[in-house]
Amino acid sequence: MSRQILVIGCGFAGMWAALSAARQVELQQGQDVSVTVLAPQPALRVRPRFYEEHPADCSAPLDALFSATGVNFLRGNATRVDAAAREVHYLKDSGESCVVSYDKLVLASGSQLNRNNISGADAFAFDIDQAESAEKFNAHLRSLAAVPASAARNTVVVCGGGLTGIELAMELPARLAKIFTDGATPRVMVIERAAQIGGHFGQELRDVIAQASNELNVEWRLNSSIETIQQNGVTLTDGTFIESHSVVLTAGVSASPLTLQIEAPRDNRGRLHVDANLQVIGQPDIFATGDVAYAACDNEGHHAFMTCQHAIPLGKYAGNNAAAALLNAEPLAYQQPFYVTCVDLGPWGAVYTETWAQEVKMVKEEAKKLKTAITNELIYPPVADKEKAFTLADPLAPFV
Ligand SMILES: Cc1cc2nc3c(=O)[nH]c(=O)nc-3n(C[C@H](O)[C@H](O)[C@H](O)COP(=O)(O)OP(=O)(O)OC[C@H]3O[C@@H](n4cnc5c(N)ncnc54)[C@H](O)[C@@H]3O)c2cc1C
Repeated sequence: MSRQILVIGCGFAGMWAALSAARQVELQQGQDVSVTVLAPQPALRVRPRFYEEHPADCSAPLDALFSATGVNFLRGNATRVDAAAREVHYLKDSGESCVVSYDKLVLASGSQLNRNNISGADAFAFDIDQAESAEKFNAHLRSLAAVPASAARNTVVVCGGGLTGIELAMELPARLAKIFTDGATPRVMVIERAAQIGGHFGQELRDVIAQASNELNVEWRLNSSIETIQQNGVTLTDGTFIESHSVVLTAGVSASPLTLQIEAPRDNRGRLHVDANLQVIGQPDIFATGDVAYAACDNEGHHAFMTCQHAIPLGKYAGNNAAAALLNAEPLAYQQPFYVTCVDLGPWGAVYTETWAQEVKMVKEEAKKLKTAITNELIYPPVADKEKAFTLADPLAPFV
């Protein structure tokens, strides 16, 4: 009887988990083991590029890669994980409800923006979290060309000054200036709860972001939280009202709600605690990876962030270890001690740091070239060639 490794999701973690599992199955000559990906579409959506001008173009097809590497694809949305029965219930596009069983499950269903705790957010806030919502925001920005200039038309309020908020805010002045053909000056404002630009980032990185913000006229409203979002603006908790037709949420990401169906300890973002092999604590047949995994990167207390920098290696280890567990091979303990940050700062350039203390190594044009190479090439899927894909899917292969 054949056995199955099921991967839910084909983002950065899921795609690499499937390839890595298929590689390990081949290495162990597990002829009776199949690898199947369940996801809404056979495509890698490149979320780190959703702050750019054409988010709809930031997607890479995976059909040819999966067929070259023997990975099966099942189109659907998982609705329920039944760990006791080792089954996943899912909905097809047609609305038909189906069930697929597994021997080992790799949960790689990513994360999503959490809008629930801000009043008015559902009705009036934009976001750039998923391909559809990023394109909706982009279409809205383009539609401002036909709206007469006013404080509300000219102002974009970015709610949350983390990496996503910073990258978007730095892009916007130049982008809006192209849209406002009436010559109006765009106003871009970041609302941030922390007392300083760049919040908890290292001092050197914070200084660079502050300098770029200053030169690009991106305003920061620090020590500030959103009370409510309305159609024509946003009210802060101190009572200040900022007029804007374009309020965009960039803070408050949580792990996929599928994590709630798995009995295991979770962190404050809903990520499942995993052991060194990325197996979910207390669930011998379930591995978690990417944005749904709370995984230690080293022995010094660092944990993976919800980034593709971590999701890609996490995916490779999780897929490898799910297959190893099924085929009685030795697992590989996940380790990722080297940490970098590369932040796009719009027309100013970019900034690149190394180490957990975020020491700045490159700025401006030099860092921008690196950033473009990362987001336009490095994180894209490998070519549809089994040998090349399996070489890269090896968790121990160098990442760059
Ligand atoms: C605007 C933005 C900018 C970012 N910038 C950076 C950056 O500069 N650097 C960086 O490292 N990271 C960045 N990130 C974070 C990065 O994109 C995520 O950490 C990364 O995508 C996580 O990979 P993942 O595979 O875990 O999840 P995802 O890439 O989100 O993939 C999840 C997959 O699961 C599928 N899925 C979800 N639910 C279900 C379901 N119920 N059933 C079946 N399939 C399902 C989805 O369709 C998708 O295929 C950014 C994110 C955003 C939104």
